[in-house]
Amino acid sequence: MRLSRRILVSGGAGFIGSHLCDRLLAEGHEVLCVDNYFTGWRRNIEHLVGTPRFEVMRHDVTFPLYVEVDDIYNLACPASPVHYQHDPVQTLKTSVHGAINMLGLAKRTRAKIFQASTSEVYGDPTVHPQPESYWGHVNPLGIRACYDEGKRAAETLFFDYHRQHKVKIKVARIFNTYGPRMHPRDGRVVSNFIVQALSGDDITIYGDGSQTRSFCYVTDLLDGFARLMATGDGFIGPVNLGNPVEFSMRELAEMVIAMTDSKSKLVYLPLPSDDPKQRQPDITLARRELGWEPKVALADGLKETIGYFRKLLAS
Ligand code: NAD
Ligand code: UDP
Repeated sequence: MRLSRRILVSGGAGFIGSHLCDRLLAEGHEVLCVDNYFTGWRRNIEHLVGTPRFEVMRHDVTFPLYVEVDDIYNLACPASPVHYQHDPVQTLKTSVHGAINMLGLAKRTRAKIFQASTSEVYGDPTVHPQPESYWGHVNPLGIRACYDEGKRAAETLFFDYHRQHKVKIKVARIFNTYGPRMHPRDGRVVSNFIVQALSGDDITIYGDGSQTRSFCYVTDLLDGFARLMATGDGFIGPVNLGNPVEFSMRELAEMVIAMTDSKSKLVYLPLPSDDPKQRQPDITLARRELGWEPKVALADGLKETIGYFRKLLAS
């Protein structure tokens, strides 16, 4: 096996994708970042432009792509509810046609392919915490379905390409992840609360704020990606990657206010439909198969993320 691999990262200009590009380049690989900049930002990767082993291609993964690569990370897809609901048909196409195109590429080049799946495959879960064996509770007709069902169909495609065409796959189900380079108007809870607190605006809690999420810092997540990609052919996932420590949205808001020393007030807005009430990964499988668990506590990760947004807003 080549030590330095040619690696395609779809969605490479996004929040997680740009950190992944950094990490793969630091490991000595050649990286081809493919992105249509729907939610990604050139700013996330501009420090890499000019690096000889780094190449960027503006491309929409719903169209076929012919390149020669050894590994593929398929991250292209808007992840924030506000963004994926903006053009739901394109979201579904990105997950489904994007998966078909990336899997077709993997089949032709015999590349190993990683899928960024999501805890949303569990929907509004009736089992808590969620193990990989849980089939989920998704409303197929609701406003989150373009994302949830798209990602579920993508998992099906990954497993069928694996069974039918022997494509080497790795599937991770990612739970809420945060960190520097989230888009300031991305609409997700961590970036929203921090930007609101730093700007002195009201902190918008949807519903009564008792709904829970479990937040994983981006560097922990990337350690999970690396460990999953390094497993032998016997382990393909799906495997949950997330931080099992659960917080309510009210607790998160209070933490952000305290850490930013903000005068912002909490305001309560209607809960969007189908908003999951609780979410916590069962990471038994990741611990056993990958020897992985998150190390960064929420307070430490928030400190880094607040520092990033402080600089960004000042500029
Ligand atoms: P992001 O929105 O910052 O990044 C997504 C990237 O994909 C963006 O750069 C966007 O421009 C690009 N993209 C979207 N549609 C595309 C298309 N048709 N063709 C090419 N590029 C396209 O989101 P993120 O948080 O970095 O998420 C990355 C991946 O991880 C996504 O697949 C998401 O579903 C998955 N994920 C993220 C989280 C999380 O909490 N951040 C949780 C679960 C799953
Ligand atoms: N949320 C909130 N205020 C905001 C943004 C989000 O209370 O300004 C809530 C949202 O309703 C959900 C949780 O925070 O219950 C996480 O939302 P996010 O959009 O980050 O991701 P999700 O996990 O729902 O995909």
